[in-house]
Amino acid sequence: MILLSLLQFCKSLFYSSDNTLSENLGGIGAVIAHKITHAFDPNGSKFDEFGNIRNWWSKEDYNKFTELSQAEIELFDGIICGGLKTNGKLTVGENVADLGGLTVAVETAKKENGNLQELFQAWAKIWCGKMMPQFRKSIIAYDSHAPSELRSNVPAQCIGDFYQTFNIQPTDGMWLDPEKRVHIW
Ligand SMILES: [Zn+2]
Repeated sequence: MILLSLLQFCKSLFYSSDNTLSENLGGIGAVIAHKITHAFDPNGSKFDEFGNIRNWWSKEDYNKFTELSQAEIELFDGIICGGLKTNGKLTVGENVADLGGLTVAVETAKKENGNLQELFQAWAKIWCGKMMPQFRKSIIAYDSHAPSELRSNVPAQCIGDFYQTFNIQPTDGMWLDPEKRVHIW
């Protein structure tokens, strides 16, 4: 029974007909957009629409994309999490997909007159969890995904609407200087 309740709770975090549109966009919507964005991350971008390795980009677009992907690497390289330095290069594909996923969810909610506070809160909730420091250490050392608190916070910190929604100021902990915010799409 406890397991069933837990499964029900986890399911409603991502999607529920009882959730608002904005909550579902911050949950399953952003996750689906994350998956689609993988086709355009630094690895997926090397494949065409048939799954063949082929450069389909214009030179100018690909140079700009590479420049922005490098900015994403440098953003994560500068973060200390649990006393450890995160590895921007190891996690760049997932971080680019998180940024794309949340950006698409936010833009969709804006078109639908959604509630961005609900969306960002739903996005943060799907990354809630507990882990031992040793497990976090192994994630930072070997995993292509950043620790979950960074997956929640860093993409949001790159989106201007996040600052307006919660009235975040330069003295607040979540503030990221505009020149450090990465915008790819
Ligand atoms: Zn992914």
